[in-house]
Amino acid sequence: MRTPTLIEKMQKYSAQNYFPLPVVLARGQGAKVWDVDGKEYLDFLACYSALNFGHQHPRLLAALKGQAERLAVCSRAFYSEELSLFCEELALFCGMEKVLPMNTGTEAVETALKLARKWGYEIKKVASDRAKIIVLKNNFHGRTISIVSFSTEPSYRDGFGPYTPGFEVVNFGDVAAIENAIDENTVAVLIEPIQAESGILLPPTGYLSELRKITRKRKVLLMLDEIQTGLGRTGKDFCFQHEGITPDVLILGKSLGGGLLPLSAVVSSAEVMRVIRPGQHGSTFGGNPLACAVGRAALDLMKKEKISERAETLGKIIRDELMRTPLPKVKEIRGKGALVGIEMAESSGGARRYCEKLATQGVLCKETHDFVIRIAPPLIISESELRVGLQKIIQVIQAG
Ligand SMILES: *Cc1c(COP(=O)(O)O)cnc(C)c1O
Repeated sequence: MRTPTLIEKMQKYSAQNYFPLPVVLARGQGAKVWDVDGKEYLDFLACYSALNFGHQHPRLLAALKGQAERLAVCSRAFYSEELSLFCEELALFCGMEKVLPMNTGTEAVETALKLARKWGYEIKKVASDRAKIIVLKNNFHGRTISIVSFSTEPSYRDGFGPYTPGFEVVNFGDVAAIENAIDENTVAVLIEPIQAESGILLPPTGYLSELRKITRKRKVLLMLDEIQTGLGRTGKDFCFQHEGITPDVLILGKSLGGGLLPLSAVVSSAEVMRVIRPGQHGSTFGGNPLACAVGRAALDLMKKEKISERAETLGKIIRDELMRTPLPKVKEIRGKGALVGIEMAESSGGARRYCEKLATQGVLCKETHDFVIRIAPPLIISESELRVGLQKIIQVIQAG
């Protein structure tokens, strides 16, 4: 079927909870995708970093197929070989001790919130039902009732009350604001090392390491949501490594499932994770052998293909190309590794129209909020593909 027919069907039969570009995809390979009419595109969004390894990576696909033919799903009522090995390999990869597997990123964030509260009551001895978690302005952690309860984005939150209590929002990038918000009931700070959904917002250098000191001193868990920044995207395996720290709780998702299926995890010390006991948390599909087999292959790929170093190289090319071209309609270019935001000036008419134009030129980018074009190609993209895409982006921005 052709593009207009399929878009019409979406308008007729689907909930309108997204506002996609008018492109109907049918196939992907590496950094390229093709639509139902056979038009070719470079994928510069990479499913919000779920596709760090690109589309249909042969090694990930082989792991998926092989495991699908052996044992795909068995529930946590039993052990599985893949889950045992996945937990070991992920814990070691993160330099941490314990893994709790889930499916989507949102579920992993919810898991971390539960973990923090339980730890607060059992270990920190916070008075019952008083636990407080500090979160940041402009955060994005998912879409459940509890998570949107502490969102500061009206469209994510409005109309979904009553809201879950127990959260306090402070300004991003301000260490003192967090220090002041910590009280005897504070169990955790939940933070994205880079606020990607809010427009690739970076905190000042040293922010995370200061936060690490304060949270340790005040006996508060530092919980990093690296669902988007983790697994190589920013030029290191994890974004927190740029500041030489380790969080208490690390939340992973997106490309952990190799871009093939949903797989997320909460990773922590044994001291923290031990507060969760049988029956207190779970998921039917969480940690299924199929997802774990792909997750193991993804971790293996991270190491063997030096994916993080690759992200650093790509990011340098992206920034160099964009910076050496005069782009008067651009207000700022920022990012880390291969996660780059181009913030358009107020007078530009917003980011959406550039993304629409780019799609017609064969490059898929998506605006984030009104004025930022996010550049986050798969980390396996070739240098020549990257340069072709960048030239088109530059041309489209210059043409206005
Ligand atoms: C995507 C994302 C989530 C939510 O993950 P889902 O898999 O969509 O549930 C949470 N936090 C961050 C930082 C994300 O980028």
